[in-house]
Amino acid sequence: MDESFSVLVVDDERGMREGCRRILERHAALVDTAESGDEAVAKFARRHYDLALVDIRMPGMDGMETLDRLRALDPDAVTIMVTGYASLQTAIEATKRGAHDVLPKPFTPDQLLAKVFSAVERRQLTLEAKRLREERERRLLEIATEKSRLRTVINCMQDGVLVTNRDGDVVLSNPAATRLLLLDDSRLLEHNVADAARQAELVDMIEKVLREGDGVSMLAREIAVERENRVLMANVAPVRDENGERLGAVAVLRDITQLKELDRAKSQFVSMVSHELRAPLAVIEGYLGMVLGGMATDDPVEERLILSRSRARAQSLLTLIDDLLDISRIEAGQLAKRVETLDPAEICRDVLGLLRPQAAARGIVLREESAGDLPRIQADREDVVRVLTNLVSNAIKYNRDEGQVVVRSSIEGGYLRLDVVDTGLGIAAEDTSKIFDEFYRVKRRETREITGTGLGLAIAKRIVDSYNGVVKVASELGKGSTFSVFLPLGDIANMRNAIE
Ligand code: ADP
Repeated sequence: MDESFSVLVVDDERGMREGCRRILERHAALVDTAESGDEAVAKFARRHYDLALVDIRMPGMDGMETLDRLRALDPDAVTIMVTGYASLQTAIEATKRGAHDVLPKPFTPDQLLAKVFSAVERRQLTLEAKRLREERERRLLEIATEKSRLRTVINCMQDGVLVTNRDGDVVLSNPAATRLLLLDDSRLLEHNVADAARQAELVDMIEKVLREGDGVSMLAREIAVERENRVLMANVAPVRDENGERLGAVAVLRDITQLKELDRAKSQFVSMVSHELRAPLAVIEGYLGMVLGGMATDDPVEERLILSRSRARAQSLLTLIDDLLDISRIEAGQLAKRVETLDPAEICRDVLGLLRPQAAARGIVLREESAGDLPRIQADREDVVRVLTNLVSNAIKYNRDEGQVVVRSSIEGGYLRLDVVDTGLGIAAEDTSKIFDEFYRVKRRETREITGTGLGLAIAKRIVDSYNGVVKVASELGKGSTFSVFLPLGDIANMRNAIE
């Protein structure tokens, strides 16, 4: 037995107190004495004793009252009542008031030790039981906290989570699952997944895992949510306990609609680019074949025509590749613009100056109109030049001979507005929304001879978008078109925030 216990001997007789002390001192870590109930209570209030040996008959506060007071101070304290009148009645009374045992006087040292040891053992058992109880309560609290933390995490997840028991009844689900599967909460919990979920593929997966769980570690499949045209990636796996016993299934659902859409757009883009690259190359290859085959060598005029056509195709290939590089540069460069303070009027003059020879070749007049002094803008010069160049060169390309192009700049709201007005072919209403798509070119008799990649407006729009601006078109077939660009005049830092 652990002998590091402490004991308080309470007796008004000095001989009794000292006698007990002598006997107990050899076994206990601490033996203290008190000659009255009051002194015992005062000592108990100051420190803990494992055991109190209390004489029942003392002047002043008697043993029974002392017992009550000591138990009030420490309900786990073990007490032995020492009495000269070891009647059954006293024993019953003392036990009722919480005494552990009664020791009748006179007693031998062995009798005293036997009672004390048994009481100390009881005290140690009580304390151990109390420790275990507290430990269990703490663990329960920890589990409850852990559970609520887990629930909070699951509830905040963007991915849907659905857990079923062995019978396929839903035992846990999060708001994302109800949202993604278009269910209302009441239909999920405690319902069988087969009744709750409308997606047959998902139900099949869960049932397969429940049926063949041991052979299946994880199933993954794309499932369609028809009503909303959404695609979900569903991963279903068995849930096992620590012994590997199957308890049910867990399904994790991720909305991959956007990813699929991006994937589709990427494939479409790659196939369009391949097509656009292949067409001129095939023509060049054909012409080269003709030259090598000696089909044109007799006629130098014919040969020259073939070579100059090949060159034109090679040039259009170069333009296409430059445009493609521009597109990828815009995407990569969105974070690294060289922003500076720019004078829009000066950029307009520069761009028109560069394109003037091209316009003059067809008798087209380029003009610039500005509504007073324009404020400076914060932008990357390259970006503004590229947007204007694309719009003005289109206005020339798709113009009639002897036509006109006016670039008008003004302020509207918090924006710099640049209008590029031409007197050209115009654009049919059904085409105006499509001309900003990559590779879209209007196919009409009048445009057949005009070369281009179909990327110029897509590039211009991407640049303007990156400044949180807008580009619009108003047009009338046969009369002309006006392309309008709106660039915000605000601080670039704020614009960035708006873009991201
Ligand atoms: P590209 O000029 O290389 O074909 P763009 O993306 O610049 O490509 O233009 C897409 C299409 O929009 C052009 O093919 C043309 O049909 C039409 N378009 C663009 N600008 C004009 C304009 N100013 N007037 C008439 N049509 C235009």
